[in-house]
Amino acid sequence: MTQQQTGFSFEVYDSITELNDADAQLLIKAKEALKHAYAPYSHFNVGATAILQNGVFVNGTNQENASYPVGICAERVLLSSASSQFPGVAIETIAISYYNENGISNKPASPCGICRQTLAEYEERQHQPIRLILGGLEGKVYIISKAAELLPLGFSSSDLK
Ligand SMILES: [Zn+2]
Repeated sequence: MTQQQTGFSFEVYDSITELNDADAQLLIKAKEALKHAYAPYSHFNVGATAILQNGVFVNGTNQENASYPVGICAERVLLSSASSQFPGVAIETIAISYYNENGISNKPASPCGICRQTLAEYEERQHQPIRLILGGLEGKVYIISKAAELLPLGFSSSDLK
């Protein structure tokens, strides 16, 4: 028997004001996208904005449904949209913001498990990392250099072969 260990490091900023201009701009765009979320059931609005390798910004917001499992997260809306509108163009960075039913958010929220799985496959497809910038409307901001690090020992296409 051997013990294996996994883990990763990420950057923690006290607030958006510590980010470089490009990262701050992307997080602001994600916050602006929040108004397009459709979350009448959870009242948990999520907005995501990606910068693609061609310089284009793509938004995603969560889209809920009266049949709850039909709803889709902002991250997967964004990934599907980017892949459909700009096939073959790599995603460099995605900023993700949110607020809860009280209209507040003061700490970063991380993608859910399904989104982590999806992000990992998009990263594999494009053969380059997707950076994540996670921040609420205020408070600390996390920057993760590679999305797949959120999913240690993740299942991937190589497991099917
Ligand atoms: Zn999700």
